[in-house]
Amino acid sequence: MEPKYRDVIIFIVLILAGYSACQEEEATDEKIIDLSHFGSMLYGNPSSVNGRRLERWRNEDNVGNPEEQGSYIQGDILIPKSLVRNGLRSQSSYWSNGIVPLQVIGPFSDSDIQVIQAAINSYHSYTCIRFVERTAEHRDYVTIQNTATGCWSSVGRVGGGQIVNLQSPGCTVKVGTVIHELMHAIGFLHEQNREDRDSYVQIQYGNIQFGFESDFQKASTGTTNDFGVPYDYSSVMHYSSTAFSSNGLPTILPVLPLNGAMGQREGFTESDVTKIRRMYNCPGQDTPQGDEQVLGDLWLIFFAPLQPKNSHPKTSELREEDIK
Ligand SMILES: [Zn+2]
Repeated sequence: MEPKYRDVIIFIVLILAGYSACQEEEATDEKIIDLSHFGSMLYGNPSSVNGRRLERWRNEDNVGNPEEQGSYIQGDILIPKSLVRNGLRSQSSYWSNGIVPLQVIGPFSDSDIQVIQAAINSYHSYTCIRFVERTAEHRDYVTIQNTATGCWSSVGRVGGGQIVNLQSPGCTVKVGTVIHELMHAIGFLHEQNREDRDSYVQIQYGNIQFGFESDFQKASTGTTNDFGVPYDYSSVMHYSSTAFSSNGLPTILPVLPLNGAMGQREGFTESDVTKIRRMYNCPGQDTPQGDEQVLGDLWLIFFAPLQPKNSHPKTSELREEDIK
């Protein structure tokens, strides 16, 4: 082959390879989370009734979790209608490259901020999710606020500004509650609503408060993804065993032997971390090898982690203005 033609062919191949890489990149950005099984109930208004319910909740009583006190979908899932710009949608998206622009407007006390920072540190230590300071260039972002409307969050990247509400002190008592709401924000739903949950839990409908039965509906087949991670009773995304109980008796019973508390809120379990890493293809963290790995390493160079991976999270002295 004459050198002239060979150069042209190489040039065309390179162009096609670049085009293919771009298509792959866009496809990654457009990963979709199916929320159609929630219907229009997904959209509503924050309610002070839920705030008052949460005010009556006491961690010392050791009954349930604060995010189980709300009457939003499954207790704590809500997209405020006031923030929806382009009509109600039945889907949201992944955060591109796992980067979540964040602003914390509170108002929060120093101890609240320490708990929120500890939750963020956990994400940065164990996953490739990166919460970064929101600037004017970020069109899509999360605002953490503190209104007396309970603990709640949207699911996935909705588009535009979206809210994670952490009513203080209820939602800021345990780091696991903040981790839980942020896991909703990056796209996860509750563990006990998984499609395969009937093999692991029995729902005790006779013990559920009237009107809350639908919160226990399992996800429709094919609408969710467990990323190949087995069911986890201890997940930070699992309800407690007495969630929405009308009589103090369990609403969720384990089918298999259970060691420890159902639905703890101390922090991530190994399964929680694995799911996040797989959902976001965290580089070097349980992801396929090959070309993807090379891209992953580049990703790390451009977006260096704030802390070394797998280091223990530390509660820093970071103040509210530092993470706004
Ligand atoms: Zn939740």
